Amino acid sequence: MRIGRLWRQNKFTLSFEVFPPVREGNVEALYKTISELSQLRPDFISVTYGAGGSTRDMSMEIAAKVKNEISQEVLAHLTCVQSAKEDIAAILTEMEIAGIENILALRGDPPQGQDRFERTAGGFGFACELVEFIKSEGDFCIGVAGYPEGHIEAENIETDLVNLKRKVDAGADFIITQMFFENDHFYRFRDRAIRQGIKVPLIPGVFPVLNYRQVMRCISLSRATMPAKLEEKMMRLEGKTEETEKFGIEYAIHQITDLLRNEVDGLHIYSMNRSAPVLAILNEITLPGKTRTFKPE
Ligand SMILES: Cc1cc2nc3c(=O)[nH]c(=O)nc-3n(C[C@H](O)[C@H](O)[C@H](O)COP(=O)(O)OP(=O)(O)OC[C@H]3O[C@@H](n4cnc5c(N)ncnc54)[C@H](O)[C@@H]3O)c2cc1C
Repeated sequence: MRIGRLWRQNKFTLSFEVFPPVREGNVEALYKTISELSQLRPDFISVTYGAGGSTRDMSMEIAAKVKNEISQEVLAHLTCVQSAKEDIAAILTEMEIAGIENILALRGDPPQGQDRFERTAGGFGFACELVEFIKSEGDFCIGVAGYPEGHIEAENIETDLVNLKRKVDAGADFIITQMFFENDHFYRFRDRAIRQGIKVPLIPGVFPVLNYRQVMRCISLSRATMPAKLEEKMMRLEGKTEETEKFGIEYAIHQITDLLRNEVDGLHIYSMNRSAPVLAILNEITLPGKTRTFKPE
């Protein structure tokens, strides 16, 4: 199913992001996590796309399995990194054969060892070009990334928004945001996007802060900021796994409750390949039009 249909029917969407395991041996654990997450009846599960060859193959394999064996709608991420048009065309054909209908079209980060993104010969330099190409190649529903605090390379937030609009004008059907830890960043971003003429659904991406080092590592690759109070609390809890997780779950509940009060179009949770915290969070929240079927222990 093309997920764009859900927003056109005014449905609130719930989705989770997973990533291919670094070590291939962990893939069975990932399928177990996905099956557990599926019990929360998300509208889709998104599978990230890595920079290296084997991770890429695994992304495709996982996305196909989620769709065809776990019977869970999937959003497959796809980047322009180290790919010429022909490579992307071949992946799109593979996706069509696997029945994948939804793609998150991304430029991707510069591969390790490069500090700037380099367009591959015969490839794409920006996500808007990838969106245009996907549109010309097949009948996919296409999402793109949005940055409430601006993309790390963007000159400023205004230019970044102009570039976001380019992706929508190229044919993107929806936007999923990067993590943010203060909802005001999202609300201001949403207001600016509307003023810019962006009319597609804007889905907030929520990253539960369950591990200080992991969060800081992710933040360091982006322009996302952490409020001083939150950072102090996380630092004080460092090394206390259970307490940190309890706090992170509470913080996410608080963040999501406020987002729901502010009528967001959906909710995308960065699961970091863990089901228990996601289940614990959603157990405390009533999502618009959703009934839970699974309770964590
Ligand atoms: C929800 C989400 C999921 C993600 N999943 C993955 C993943 O699976 N794999 C992965 O490798 N990475 C992923 N990323 C990270 C993403 O690849 C990086 O943030 C990357 O640096 C930018 O990708 P983009 O698609 O936003 O690029 P773009 O939209 O192309 O933007 C990149 C930069 O170029 C500027 N720009 C854009 N268009 C133009 C233009 N036409 N002219 C001039 N400047 C322009 C933008 O302002 C921005 O600064 C994800 C990010 C998000 C938010």
